[in-house]
Amino acid sequence: MTAKAHEEARKLIALGDSLSQAEYAWLRAHLDECEDCRQHAETAQQMAQWMRAIPIAADRSLVRTTQMRVRARAEQLRHRRERLFLITFSCALVAISSAFSTAIVWKSFEWLGHWAQLPTPAWQAGFALFWIAPTLAASLLFLGHGTYLGSNGRTRE
Ligand SMILES: [Zn+2]
Repeated sequence: MTAKAHEEARKLIALGDSLSQAEYAWLRAHLDECEDCRQHAETAQQMAQWMRAIPIAADRSLVRTTQMRVRARAEQLRHRRERLFLITFSCALVAISSAFSTAIVWKSFEWLGHWAQLPTPAWQAGFALFWIAPTLAASLLFLGHGTYLGSNGRTRE
């Protein structure tokens, strides 16, 4: 019998009752032939019985602390879900409003360009500058405050 067969048998013994029929049949056959593995299986079974026999009781403070932590974690997850919903909603609103406002601002710059008799690239450049100015300003502001980084240098959630 190979060492791999013994190793496989011990792995199956460790899995306990969660074996498939084929695995169980193979293990049964192996245990019939192998004294070492049979001994190992009996020891493992005895250990499992002893472990089940030991009563494990949690005192009141442990139960209370655990309940508090579970509630706090549930609350934290609920807040995170709400925040995610708000962020998603805000992003959708911004996308929709920017789609409409882009068309309006474009038409306004075009009208102004014609009114001021500017060449087309000039009013288009003005539009581009006007369009990216808020993003640039916000980026510089965030960079200045270091908002994108937490105190330990990692990005915030
Ligand atoms: Zn064996």
